[in-house]
Amino acid sequence: MAESRKTVEDARRFASMVAEHQGWKLMADPEFLGTLVEGLATNHNRYGYYLCPCRDSLGSPSADEDVICPCEYAQADIEEHGHCFCALYQSPAFHARGGEPASIPERSPRRG
Ligand code: SF4
Repeated sequence: MAESRKTVEDARRFASMVAEHQGWKLMADPEFLGTLVEGLATNHNRYGYYLCPCRDSLGSPSADEDVICPCEYAQADIEEHGHCFCALYQSPAFHARGGEPASIPERSPRRG
């Protein structure tokens, strides 16, 4: 049986759960956050997994596995830049000072 469709609220709950589990904060800007969680839901419904909302699929789950949210690079990016590649997840310090997310280098070797 096909997996049920994810709503934007499902994706929002998923992101909140990840953030809480990891000790991260979610993007504070409600509009930006809404776009990101909508992207997660759309990707889940399109590919069957929460592909990163700011990256394109390379065509298969195995090719995409390093960038299924939370991606393999989130921790390192949050430590170095204060936020993940999409800025969905942020360090508590970056979040508390209202930091402006910047464009950061792609760590995925398949996409760099
Ligand atoms: S950069 Fe990584 S952690 Fe951030 S939204 Fe994309 S997949 Fe998730």
